[in-house]
Amino acid sequence: MKNDPQFIYLIPLGDVGDKHLEIIAESIQEQFSLAVKIATNQGIPAYALDAVRQQYNSNLILRKLIDTAAPDALKVLGVTQVDLFNPIFSFVFGEAQFKGKGAIISSYRLRGNPDSAPKIGCPPLISRLEKEAIHELGHTFGLKHCADPDCVMQYSVGLECADRKFSYFCPACRELMIWHLSTDLFLRA
Ligand SMILES: [Zn+2]
Ligand SMILES: [Zn+2]
Repeated sequence: MKNDPQFIYLIPLGDVGDKHLEIIAESIQEQFSLAVKIATNQGIPAYALDAVRQQYNSNLILRKLIDTAAPDALKVLGVTQVDLFNPIFSFVFGEAQFKGKGAIISSYRLRGNPDSAPKIGCPPLISRLEKEAIHELGHTFGLKHCADPDCVMQYSVGLECADRKFSYFCPACRELMIWHLSTDLFLRA
C-alpha cells in the first residue's frame, strides 16, 4: 500500500548541508535496506531552546518529530547543528526512542571543540554523523549497546571512541536488526 510506513525520513532542522544529508541518507539506505526520503527543512527548533542553558532539549524535538511524522514514515531522524541536552545528560550527540519511531542527531559536539577549527588529520565530521545516525536509528529498531569495539552500536564515551568504530553493524547486531525489522514490518502489515 502506498501509505504503509516503509520509509526512513531524514528531517533537516537548520543549516545541515545538503551534501551531508545525501551521504547520511545513502549510508542509512545501505545499512537498513530501506528507502530514505529527505524532508523539507524545518529550521532550527526554536521551541526546544532552553533560555538559561542556551541549548536545545532533545526530548522536545523528538516528541515533535514523532507527532508530525508522515503516514508513510517507518522512522524519522532529525539532523541539526544546534547543541542538544536532555534531562539526564548535560549534552548529547543524539537521542532515540528505543523501539520507537524517532531519533535526533546533532553535529554540534561531533565537531570536537565547537569554537575551534577542526584539527588536521581529524576524521571528517561526516563520518561521525553517519555513525551517529546509524547508531540512533539502530536503537529505534530495538538494538541495545554492543560490546564489540568496532560495531556501530558500541557506546562511545568520547569522540576518540566514536572514531574508532565502523559505520556498520557487527554480524550479531546485523542479524538482530534484520529480525527486529521483519517483525516491525510484519506487525504493521
Ligand atoms: Zn546508544
Ligand atoms: Zn554489535
